[in-house]
Amino acid sequence: MKIAIAGSGAMGSRFGYMLHQSGNDVLLVDKWDEHIHEINCHGLTVINEEGRKISKVKATRPEETTKKVELLIVFTKAMDTDSMLSSCKKIIGEKTRVLTLQNGLGNIETLEKYVTQDRVLAGVTTFGTELIGPGKIQALGSGAVQITQADGKITEEVQQIAAIMNDAEMNAEVSANALTSIWNKVAFNCVLNTVCTLMNDTVSAVGNYSQVNEVIEAIIEEIILVAEKEEIRLNKEEITNMITEVFDPRMSGNHLPSMVQDMENGRKTEIDYLNGAIVSKGEQHDIPVPINRMITHFIKMMEEIRDKKRIENV
Ligand code: NAD
Repeated sequence: MKIAIAGSGAMGSRFGYMLHQSGNDVLLVDKWDEHIHEINCHGLTVINEEGRKISKVKATRPEETTKKVELLIVFTKAMDTDSMLSSCKKIIGEKTRVLTLQNGLGNIETLEKYVTQDRVLAGVTTFGTELIGPGKIQALGSGAVQITQADGKITEEVQQIAAIMNDAEMNAEVSANALTSIWNKVAFNCVLNTVCTLMNDTVSAVGNYSQVNEVIEAIIEEIILVAEKEEIRLNKEEITNMITEVFDPRMSGNHLPSMVQDMENGRKTEIDYLNGAIVSKGEQHDIPVPINRMITHFIKMMEEIRDKKRIENV
C-alpha cells in the first residue's frame, strides 16, 4: 500500500518504520529539515529491546511531494493537524483514507475538513515511542491499535487497513468501540498528563498521593457527563482502573507523561485537545466543568509564564 505519515516525529517514525519493514511503500512527511536530512542520508535509526536497526524508509517535507497515497496516517501533535493537512493536500486523492491515532478530541473534525467522513479513520494505540534526536527513535515495548471509520461503518477498506497493520505486527483490530476508546484515553490523559504536569512529577509520584482517588473522580465525572451528551457512554470504574493500574512502577509508574516533557522542553502542550476540549464541549452542551476549566487555566498559565521567562532571558 502507498502510505504517507503526516508528522513523522516519535510515533510517526515508528509507524512508518513498521509499515515499511512489512513491505509497504512508505513516505515520512515532516517539516523538520534536520530529521529529514538524517533519515535520507543515514537511514532512520530505531532502538528497541532487540538493539539498533537502520531503516531505509524515505522522508520529505510536505510541500515537496505530490504523489497521491492510499493511506495517510496523521501523527502530528493535535494542534498541528490542520496546518499539516493543509500543507500536504496534494497527496490526498479521491480514494485516500486518512487515519488519526493522535491523542485528544477534535482531530476527527479537522480531518473531515479535508476528506469525506467515510474516508476518515480514527482510533487509539498503546504503542509508545520517544524521539531521541534527528533521525533516531526509541521504540518502547509493543502495543496495539484499535480503529474504526469515523461514520461508524465497518467496511472492507477499514478491514484491509487493519490487515496491513497486522502484517506489520501492530496488533490492530477494527472495533465499533474505537470512538469510546478515544474518549477513555482522553479521560486517562486529562488526569495523568495534566496532573503530572502540574506536579512536575512521575505517574507513581502522583499515584502515591493519599487522596488521589478524589482528584481522579473530580476530573472524570465531568468528562463522563460531557461524553454522554456526545452519545458516548463511559464507565467511571473502568477509567479509574485504567489510571490506577499505571501507578505501579512496574507498569509505567516511573514514566514522565509527554505533557510534562513538552512543558519542560518549551513546547506547546496538547491541553486544548484534552481538558480544554472538555471545557469547550461543556459550554456547547451547557454542562458546567469547573475542575477541567481550572486545570486548563493552570496548564496554560504555566505555558505563558515559561514562555515569558524565556523571552526575557534571551
Ligand atoms: P512528536 O512531536 O514527536 O512528532 C510530531 C511531528 O510532527 C514532529 O516531528 C513535527 O516536526 C511534525 N509536524 C508538526 N507540524 C507539522 C506541519 N505543519 N508540517 C509538517 N510536520 C509537522 O509527537 P509524537 O510524540 O509522535 O505524538 C504524535 C501524536 O501521537 C500526539 O497526539 C500524541 O499525543 C500521540 N501519541 C504519542 C505517543 C508517544 O509515545 N509519543 C503515544 C500515543 C499517542
